[in-house]
Amino acid sequence: MYFSDFNLEQYLNELETVVNIDSGTVTPEGVAKVADFFKNKFEQIGCLTETFHFSPEIGPCVKIQTKDTDQYDVVLVGHIDTVFPLGTVQERPFKRKDNIVYGPGTADMKAGVLSAYYVVKELIKQKERDLSVCVLINCDEEIGSIHSTPWIKEHGAKCKAAFIYEPGRSDGSFVVERKGTAKYEISFKGISAHSGADPERGRSAITEMAHWIVALDQLNDYEKGFTLNTGIVKGGVVTNMVAGHAMMKLDTRFKDMKHYEQIQQKIKHMTDHPFIEGVTAMAKQISFREPMNPHDQTFALMNKLEELGKKLDVPVTWKATGGVSDGNGISALGIPVLDGCGPVGGHSHNENEYIETDSILPRMKLLYELILAL
Ligand SMILES: [Zn+2]
Repeated sequence: MYFSDFNLEQYLNELETVVNIDSGTVTPEGVAKVADFFKNKFEQIGCLTETFHFSPEIGPCVKIQTKDTDQYDVVLVGHIDTVFPLGTVQERPFKRKDNIVYGPGTADMKAGVLSAYYVVKELIKQKERDLSVCVLINCDEEIGSIHSTPWIKEHGAKCKAAFIYEPGRSDGSFVVERKGTAKYEISFKGISAHSGADPERGRSAITEMAHWIVALDQLNDYEKGFTLNTGIVKGGVVTNMVAGHAMMKLDTRFKDMKHYEQIQQKIKHMTDHPFIEGVTAMAKQISFREPMNPHDQTFALMNKLEELGKKLDVPVTWKATGGVSDGNGISALGIPVLDGCGPVGGHSHNENEYIETDSILPRMKLLYELILAL
């Protein structure tokens, strides 16, 4: 039987080791330590590994292969960076209470990467099929994979299916649908003037921005999953001055690329036709991810996983989310993507982050069988 020698205590010890290394995206030394940990483990089971340095601001990413080939049966993706600053581990290290494990990056997503390792280990051990598996350990997911996306897409394009080891949702659901996102920083330049002595000479950057906020807000269509949120605004100097400068940051989410086009057009139109003559706006896109939408091949994977769930007595349910992952970019290439493959967990990006230890082995078995069934 597969996973017959799996030892949960050992798994949790290893998880403790990596969780207790601060590895925020901008803590490259920590990310490098976690990368080394996994690199060594994969090498010990005979995998080929290669380290990539995309920018001095971030730590290394690692590519792992079970075979020396450029075509993969499956690509498994995980990230080892977290959102937490240096010192978080000291404040609240790995902690285990009954069947719950807490700590920064447990669910999001060091446990996921560890689970992917154990699945690969078992595939190699069982030698049931001569599978070509590629594991991509990402180092900058939490800042939008701005450096790693081309690398992830390059390898994601060479597989039959991609499994993303983000945590299973708190109810155990897997994820096959994620919205796309585009974020913008928009700066406004007006003409400052004394608001008492000669206000008519002024052109308020803040008023222009206010028009933009309202106009963009009106595009919101919750039913279609198309949302826009101005999350940050800044501007002005003192109350008795017509503001010469303002800045806003906009977060947009969409299921359909046509809504992304609509945002682009709207921003271009408002830039070309300011509400207040004399004010100029400059919009800069600061991040972009395509939507992840299931298609026929994804549905086939989902059916198979549901079947396996019945066989192994593990509930298999699905959830759509507005949050993005590295699955978005791979899915946009037409590759079927299954996400949320890690252990069940929740409260990502906050101090209550956890995983359920009972979910570790059942989900590894599910994914192991699904890979064999590909
Ligand atoms: Zn995250």
